[in-house]
Amino acid sequence: MRKDIMGVTFDDVTLAEAAAAGETLAAGPGFAYVVTPNPEIVNLARRAEDYRQVLNGAALVLPDGIGVVHAARILGTPLQGRVPGIDFATALVARLAQSGGRLFLLGAKPGVAEQAGENLRRQYPGLTICGTHHGYFQDSGPVVQAIRAARADVVFVCLGAPKQEYWMAQQGPATGAHLMVGLGGVLDVYAGNVKRAPALWQKLGLEWCYRLLHQPSRIGRMAKLPLFLVEAAGEKRKRGRA
Ligand code: UDP
Repeated sequence: MRKDIMGVTFDDVTLAEAAAAGETLAAGPGFAYVVTPNPEIVNLARRAEDYRQVLNGAALVLPDGIGVVHAARILGTPLQGRVPGIDFATALVARLAQSGGRLFLLGAKPGVAEQAGENLRRQYPGLTICGTHHGYFQDSGPVVQAIRAARADVVFVCLGAPKQEYWMAQQGPATGAHLMVGLGGVLDVYAGNVKRAPALWQKLGLEWCYRLLHQPSRIGRMAKLPLFLVEAAGEKRKRGRA
């Protein structure tokens, strides 16, 4: 059963459970997409009903940010923990390298997806990167065709939020891919352009702080996070009265 955190319904799963579910979807006959909302994304969804529906329509809704986990606890519907999008993606890559599934990388500035693919292939011998495309296109048609021609099973869609979630829901079925995952800036990390926080910072739930120190321009976006928790407390009081 999913847990409603400020209007977005999250799957209460561990990373291992999420990766196993992702592998099953990737090998299945249909089309599904996975979203990895952080508080910023949940806030966007609170202002746009159609975006909220796109998020809740995903086959898996994974709690990417520690802020979502804190809000869940405040609301009295705790989640087992954070499932960072990048950890889910990496676990899926490891499984695809074993199963022979075909991965397409979409997004980021020109050249980044190619570099990310090279690095992943080096780290996971046997991985098939069946195609790449940058994320700064106007017309989706040729991109859909490229994914279809590459016979991709899985596509990492890294266009930033909310663009990537709308894109997966709207364009995904026409690509012939079985699974799409919306992953924000993950290709920049795989390409080696952006460093992830060291493991200890991640364990302490301080990845956001590390990111802020290295990309101070994110301060405006992040300043809204404490407010998110205050609003979760307000929501809890409202639910208590209802
Ligand atoms: N991006 C893109 N097309 C766009 C806008 C953004 O491919 O039209 C890429 C951008 O280059 C970056 C990613 O989307 O690689 C978004 O990164 P951000 O750090 O904002 O995402 P987050 O991880 O915070 O969701």
